[in-house]
Amino acid sequence: MQSHLLAVLDGFGANPGLMVGAALVAAVGLQTAIAVFIGARRLHHLQRQARLEQDRLNLTLRAARIQSQTAEAEKASWNGWRKFTVARKIRECEDVYSFELQPHDGKPLPTFKPGQYVTFGLDLPGHGKQVVRCYSLSDAPQRRDRYRVTIKRDAKPGYPPGVASSHFCDQVRESDILNVKAPAGHFAIDTEKETAAVLISAGVGITPVLSMAKAVVASGSRREIWFFFVCRNRHDFMLQSEVEALAKAGNIRVQVCFSRPDQGDVKGRDYHHEGRLTADLVKSLLPSSNYDFYLCGNGAFMADLFSGLTTWGVPESRIHFEAFGPATIKKTSDTTSLRRKTGEDSPGPQCSVTFAKSGRTVRWEPGATNLLEFALSHGIRMDSGCCAGSCGSCLVAVKSGEVVYLNPPDSTPEAGSCLTCICRPKGDLILDA
Ligand SMILES: Cc1cc2nc3c(=O)[nH]c(=O)nc-3n(C[C@H](O)[C@H](O)[C@H](O)COP(=O)(O)OP(=O)(O)OC[C@H]3O[C@@H](n4cnc5c(N)ncnc54)[C@H](O)[C@@H]3O)c2cc1C
Repeated sequence: MQSHLLAVLDGFGANPGLMVGAALVAAVGLQTAIAVFIGARRLHHLQRQARLEQDRLNLTLRAARIQSQTAEAEKASWNGWRKFTVARKIRECEDVYSFELQPHDGKPLPTFKPGQYVTFGLDLPGHGKQVVRCYSLSDAPQRRDRYRVTIKRDAKPGYPPGVASSHFCDQVRESDILNVKAPAGHFAIDTEKETAAVLISAGVGITPVLSMAKAVVASGSRREIWFFFVCRNRHDFMLQSEVEALAKAGNIRVQVCFSRPDQGDVKGRDYHHEGRLTADLVKSLLPSSNYDFYLCGNGAFMADLFSGLTTWGVPESRIHFEAFGPATIKKTSDTTSLRRKTGEDSPGPQCSVTFAKSGRTVRWEPGATNLLEFALSHGIRMDSGCCAGSCGSCLVAVKSGEVVYLNPPDSTPEAGSCLTCICRPKGDLILDA
């Protein structure tokens, strides 16, 4: 082999023509290689530029879409009650029904932020006052002709079943007309963001977070979403087919827990984990704590998760939650912001609250967040709805004294009254409750 190579080189040395030819071939080869390299780089550059241009165009289109949707939503929104027809009533599982609602006036509907709720005003026989209740919108906002709510009969053992939820389950029929207030609420996911998010719910708490997950899928975003849900077993698994459909979108990871699986329930087919849905389970599956968290479920469930997540190092500002009644979670940031607003160093004023109709006077407790929770914790019945100062159900007349608001009310309450779910006393207070 070596001798063969030497012979070839010898041949070149002996033949200058051959050497020139070889040099020419090498030069042409090199030139071609350089041209191919430059061409490939230019092509790569052009492709990159086209991609950047496409991204810029997408962003412009997205911004224009948001602008037009916001303008449209503002135009189509309404104040006070609007009549809606029940277009469909669907039985989801035992004691849970979905209601699809179409505006009776046939005019367009404003879009809503996924996670928001609507407020119903029910005039029920035997109830002097209108019964006002909030229900989360359970479908994606992309559907523009109707809204959907999903309602579970609320029944505490040993007490009469819930007034409004029982009315919806037993009495409301297709083609009935209902009074509805426009979508409201701050528990909402921003579908224009790309940050990874974890949606965690229990039972009927699934409604706002299902809307969030469906909205992300419908927007075409590739955002990473984890969807954790717990119920007793498949008989309780409301909206199951919609949860299963989420799992087919590549970026949504669905994890279902059954706390008490039934004989026919199959792990791997109907659910992923047996037992409670805890912060430890969430921690064991997530690669890090770097997510925005959205929680909805009963009080104890949310309190456990909130405490588990904050202990893990998730900042309170990244944990969002919706309580379907007076809140059980107190963020330290809420107390701090309240102290800043009232200019107080102590967590609350030294004062007493008199509930005139109930004939009770109670010393205000420094740890209490708002008047509604304070009253309920002392066994004083008060109406409540959104617990966020929007729906007006907890409005009570102030007979004497002043209140301070934790959050600004969505609309100013009538003079001489206060929205008890978002305020607390400034000093001694007498309420007409
Ligand atoms: C923002 C928001 C969104 C919501 N979204 C949804 C949703 O999507 N789906 C849903 O199903 N719900 C939702 N809710 C809850 C809903 O608004 C109602 O609170 C729920 O349906 C109960 O109302 P009710 O009139 O049926 O029960 P109520 O009549 O208000 O009774 C409530 C509970 O008290 C019990 N009770 C009755 N008498 C007594 C007594 N003397 N002492 C103690 N307890 C008693 C009842 O058995 C019942 O369990 C949401 C709530 C909020 C604030």
